[in-house]
Amino acid sequence: MKKSEKLVKKLTYNRKNFWEEFSDESQSAFDFSEGYKAFLDISKTEREATRFYEKILKEHGFALMDIEAGGQKFYRTARDKNVAFAVKGKAPVSAGINLIVSHIDAPRIDFKQSPLAQDSETGLGIIKTHYYGGVKKYQWMSTPLAIHGVIIKQDGTKINISIGEADEDPVFVMPDLLPHLARNIQYNEKLGAAVKADNMNMIFNSIPYFEEADKDVKNAVKLNALNILNQKYDIIEEDLLSAEIEIVPAGKARDAGIDKSMVLAYGQDDRICAYTSASALLDIADGEFEKTAVVFLADKEEIGSEGNSGARSAFIIDFIADLLAACGEKNDSVTLRKTLLNSQVLSADVNAAINPNFPSVHEMQNAVHLGYGVGIAKFTGSGGKGGSNDANAEFNAHIFRIFNSEKVCWQSGELGKVDEGGGGTIAKFMAEYGAEVIDCGPGVLGMHSLYELTSKADIYSSYKAYKTFFLKG
Ligand code: MN
Ligand code: MN
Repeated sequence: MKKSEKLVKKLTYNRKNFWEEFSDESQSAFDFSEGYKAFLDISKTEREATRFYEKILKEHGFALMDIEAGGQKFYRTARDKNVAFAVKGKAPVSAGINLIVSHIDAPRIDFKQSPLAQDSETGLGIIKTHYYGGVKKYQWMSTPLAIHGVIIKQDGTKINISIGEADEDPVFVMPDLLPHLARNIQYNEKLGAAVKADNMNMIFNSIPYFEEADKDVKNAVKLNALNILNQKYDIIEEDLLSAEIEIVPAGKARDAGIDKSMVLAYGQDDRICAYTSASALLDIADGEFEKTAVVFLADKEEIGSEGNSGARSAFIIDFIADLLAACGEKNDSVTLRKTLLNSQVLSADVNAAINPNFPSVHEMQNAVHLGYGVGIAKFTGSGGKGGSNDANAEFNAHIFRIFNSEKVCWQSGELGKVDEGGGGTIAKFMAEYGAEVIDCGPGVLGMHSLYELTSKADIYSSYKAYKTFFLKG
């Protein structure tokens, strides 16, 4: 090796391709992704993800959080839409916790409050919708859809529904306009206006209610839809007004690529971080480590972490306060504040990997590459770092150091070129408590589309990174 080559090797930073540099872990990456895909298939909404972990946590001996609970492992859910769980470390909780926060909501299409209608022109039964989060509306047209959600009956009974996932289930669709007639109202529009919110009605049914003796039934197609729902769930139209029903792409997570090295699925932003962080803590829950470890799977990130199940609600602070008490420590407001100030947080959310179809929006040296490990983003936000947490160099270097010590495949990268757009994460809300916070998560291609693409190398590297953070952070 020439002297200059040696110097390059010694001095320069180069992100590492997982498949080349960590080839002894390739099989582990493939194996780990099987569980991940299964999780995605049964957790298409925040409620389903919460239910999934509630069951798993009970099976793993976690106690429902209560200041009298005792033991070392605790969990709590809120409103059936988020979940936090903790494992006590050797050090006091007030010495600071290691928290990984991700989110289990994803961009989707919701039913409107009064959703069911009979279209006056066509006589078809339709569902009126209202999109949730940052979606490109046109992507949702002419693709098979499933509905998931809850309906609360007048007597308070809760009905969980899921239609469109089983092979024998029907699916739904919001039909797009044929190209032949799209010249004026679509092709002459800007991309974002080619499909408007008003165009996003989902076809629900087409057979009218029919009785030989009464052939003049008004809105007979809508009535038939209500009749079918009543027979199936014993509900009336008013029950739909309070229901939460989410429209998501129908179908399962799939391996992608001829080498099966990637996963194509809906809702990987940010269930990829939810699954990898939760798996990391579950794996070490019965071992010993220094700092108390907490996983928080939050709702409502896609609309600004609002609401009483979002990261900005009192839920996580209240959980940490009760955690202090459950572990026999004081939990007055001073102790709670100090605990938070002493804490470290990974804001586990996805990053935008370089898309070969649209490379111009990325700055190659500072973007995340698919298959090169978990991404670490010192800052997010837009413009002049607006809305960013901007992690401290000391904490950032600490994270690099522990990842290197455990041979985690990682890379640094920010979301797109400066001034190209941007986006925020939960990081800044956690930083408001004074904790050290940094963004850390895998790259995704086609983020917020119906089918997001990730690398099994990055899924596995995220899991390994999160485990390292809990054990050594
Ligand atoms: Mn996200
Ligand atoms: Mn997102």
